[in-house]
Amino acid sequence: MSAPKILVVGAGINGLVAANYLRRAGCDVTMIERAERIGGACVSETVNVNGVTQPYALGASVLGLMQNFVFAETGLADRLETFVPNHAKFVFFPGDDEPTWIHRDPAMLDKELADKWGERGEVEAFRADEATVVRFLQEGYRSAVPPSINDANAAIGETLTRLFISGSARELMDHYFTSERSKMYMAMTVTESGPVSLDDPYSAFTLPMMDSGSIFDGYYGFIKGGIWRITTELGRINDELGVDLHLSSSVVGVDTDNGRVIWEQGGTEKSAEFDYLVLGTDPLTASRLVGDSEQLAGTEKQRFRGSSGKLNVMFDKPIRWKHGSGHEHSDSAFRFIFSVNDIEEYEAATLKVLDTENDYVPGYAQVYCEGAAMRHLCHDEPFDRLAVFFKNLSLSSRGADLTHVEQQVKETVLARIENPEDCVWTRLLMPKDLQELFLFPGGNLDHTILTGGQTFFDRNYADDPSTGFYRYGSLEKVYVCGSGTYPCGSIAGTPGYMCSQQLLRAASQ
Ligand SMILES: Cc1cc2nc3c(=O)[nH]c(=O)nc-3n(C[C@H](O)[C@H](O)[C@H](O)COP(=O)(O)OP(=O)(O)OC[C@H]3O[C@@H](n4cnc5c(N)ncnc54)[C@H](O)[C@@H]3O)c2cc1C
Repeated sequence: MSAPKILVVGAGINGLVAANYLRRAGCDVTMIERAERIGGACVSETVNVNGVTQPYALGASVLGLMQNFVFAETGLADRLETFVPNHAKFVFFPGDDEPTWIHRDPAMLDKELADKWGERGEVEAFRADEATVVRFLQEGYRSAVPPSINDANAAIGETLTRLFISGSARELMDHYFTSERSKMYMAMTVTESGPVSLDDPYSAFTLPMMDSGSIFDGYYGFIKGGIWRITTELGRINDELGVDLHLSSSVVGVDTDNGRVIWEQGGTEKSAEFDYLVLGTDPLTASRLVGDSEQLAGTEKQRFRGSSGKLNVMFDKPIRWKHGSGHEHSDSAFRFIFSVNDIEEYEAATLKVLDTENDYVPGYAQVYCEGAAMRHLCHDEPFDRLAVFFKNLSLSSRGADLTHVEQQVKETVLARIENPEDCVWTRLLMPKDLQELFLFPGGNLDHTILTGGQTFFDRNYADDPSTGFYRYGSLEKVYVCGSGTYPCGSIAGTPGYMCSQQLLRAASQ
C-alpha cells in the first residue's frame, strides 16, 4: 500500500510537530501555511533602535510545557541549546520592600512563605500531590490517550481528582494554603489564558497542567537565540525529512467527501488531494473549513476571550535589578509583580475587563529576563531585553493606541530596576493585536479559555471522543490539533504529537 497522503493546515508549533511525526512514520506530508513564514505565534520580529537591529520574540518567549520526548524525537534537541535559571523566583506584592523567594526546594519554600506571608498550610504536601497529578498527565501525553475523569479516579484517586482536576482553583487553594498571597501566587496560572474565575469548575486543572512540561521538569527556560528557533529549526528538519511546504497559501475550502483541499496562493486557486487532513489552526478556522452549520455555531459559542498582553522592552546596557543575590543566575530569575493585595481584589480585577470599558485593570506582571538568559548562553546581543507578560486587558484596543497602558506597565517594571534610564524601546501588544496578528479567536493565548465546559476531556471536536479524540465531528479522515485542543496552547506541541499518534493508529487498522 502506498504511503498515506497527509495534508497539514497551519505551520505553528502543533502543525509542525504533527508533520514531523507523520513524516518520520513514512507518510507523504504536505503543509499549507497562510503566512509568508512558518511559526504561527512562535516567531521573531526585529526592531531597529538608533541604527542597531535586534530580534525579539513577538509571541511566545519562554519554553517549559514541551515534553522532553517531543524535543528529542523531533530532532530539536540535537540542534538547540537551552538555559533554565536555577535561582529562586522573586515575587513582589504592593508595599513590599523585599521580594519573597520562591525556592525550588519545598522545605525552603515552606519556610520562606511562613516567614514572609504567614503561611500555615501544607506547602510541601501541595507540591507532592501536584507531582502525582503531573505524572498521571505525562503518562497520558506519552501514550497519546487524553484522560477521562474515570481514568483519573483510577490512577490518582477520587480526592486528588476532585481537588486538582474537576474542582475549582479556590477550593484547591483553600485546601492547602492559609495565606492570601500564597493562594494568589499559586493560582496565577488559572487566569493566564483568559478571564477565568477561581470559582469556575475545573479551574484547578490549569495548575498541574501548566506544570506538566517535562523538558525542564516543570520549570521554564530559554532557547539560545530565542524561542522562535524551535519553529524555524523544526521547519528546517521537516524540510530535510521531505515535508512539502507551501507558504503564503490560505486554505479556503475543503471537500471532505472527496478528500480535496482548495487554497489560494498569490491570487491563484490551487487544490490537492488528501487521505487525511490535519488542521493545526485555531478551532474557529477549523470549524469554518470543515464543520457544518451546527458545528460552526457550537464553536462560535465557545468562550474565546483573552485578557493577557505583552510588553517587549529593550535596554542599551545590561539591566541592574534592585533586588537579587550574588548567585550567577540572579539576573535571569523570573520575577512576578502583583498589583493586588488579596484574592478578592485579584478576582475582581480578572473579571472586570469582561463587563466594563476598562482597557487595563492591573493584576500581575510576569517578567522574563530574555537578555540575561542569552548572556548565560554566550549569545551576544546589542540590547538587553525583557518580555513582560501581564493582565488584565480588554479586547477593545490595539497596543499602539494605548500609550498610557504602555507607560503604566513600564513604570511598574522600571521601579524594580537601578538603571531605568537605559530603557530605550518598548512595544505593547493587547489581546486585540493577538487576534489580528496571530488569528487567535478573542485574543486568547490558548485559542480558547481554559475553563469549565472547555477543559480537560471537553477540549475536543469529535462526535465520539472515546474512539478518536482529535477527529473532527464524525469525519474519519479529518483531525484537529491546534492549541484549542487538549491539553492546551503553549510551545509544547503536545496536541500535535497526540493527534499524529491517533491518526497513525487509525491508519494502520
Ligand atoms: C503574546 C504571546 C505570548 C505567549 N507566550 C508564551 C510563552 O512564553 N510560552 C509558551 O509556551 N506559549 C506562549 N504563548 C502561547 C503559544 O504561542 C501558542 O499557544 C502557540 O504558539 C500556538 O501554536 P499552534 O500551532 O497551536 O497555533 P498557531 O501558532 O496559532 O498556528 C496556527 C497556524 O495556522 C495558520 N492558519 C490559520 N488559518 C489558516 C488557513 N486557512 N490556511 C493556512 N494556514 C492557516 C496560521 O497562519 C498559523 O501559522 C504566547 C502567545 C502569545 C500570542
